[in-house]
Amino acid sequence: MKQLRHQVAEAAQFLHAAGWVANHDGNVTARDGNRFIATPTATSKRLVAEKDLIEVDAKGHVHGAGKVFGEIGLHLVVYERRPDVGAVVHAHPPYATAIGASRKNPIERPFIAEALVSLGPRIPRIPYAQPGEPAKAALAPWCELVDAAILGNHGVIAWGKDCEQALLRLELVEHLAKIAIAAEALGGIEPLPESAIQPLLAARAKAGIGRAADRALDTAGQLLGSAAQRPVVACAPAPHSPVPTISPSGKPQDLAQVVREEIVKALRK
Ligand SMILES: [Zn+2]
Repeated sequence: MKQLRHQVAEAAQFLHAAGWVANHDGNVTARDGNRFIATPTATSKRLVAEKDLIEVDAKGHVHGAGKVFGEIGLHLVVYERRPDVGAVVHAHPPYATAIGASRKNPIERPFIAEALVSLGPRIPRIPYAQPGEPAKAALAPWCELVDAAILGNHGVIAWGKDCEQALLRLELVEHLAKIAIAAEALGGIEPLPESAIQPLLAARAKAGIGRAADRALDTAGQLLGSAAQRPVVACAPAPHSPVPTISPSGKPQDLAQVVREEIVKALRK
């Protein structure tokens, strides 16, 4: 328990030290049973110590002292949809946030082999939504599909099994954004060759990285094979769709089918 609080405080201070937050920006949470340890609102992440952390339940109600930050809903929707997730970090890192505040997303498909293995085939830029319920609703359909997302005109949110993994994912998104923006001066990013994608996704599945759905299937090769032979009916949210799309049946979709769809889409880019 103390260990967990230590990790949350350390992650918060890291966000500031890395230059990914200013003023009172950013927040960190970690799952502790059916409660969540969270950074306090209206505090510089530079100053967050273990004693300042607060505890909230799955509805965002505070237990004990302190006041929760307004963006807690973004964290809670991730935990609700991803039982495998132990920590969520959110910040406004300058390069990735620049992508979030501009019209294109040059990092939508990771263009470095290691990044594709670590983050999967896609880093979405979710269109801007008002803080509170609208922002939560915009993020919700992505929680099971990805491990990090750019929030339009806002920042980045990433999650993982613990604070360390969530921070690494956020760090990688910012690093890719920095490279992509530098590459603009040289004519823009050249994507990875399509033939490289399948082996990298297979390596990702083999390493047990990413969503449970990825790991449930033997290899990404099998995923691609089956996707090539059958028409995909259900749809994941379209890349630039302001609203989540709904499966034709109106029922929650088979996650494996969504994953196949995502990989096929990534390959077509
Ligand atoms: Zn924010």
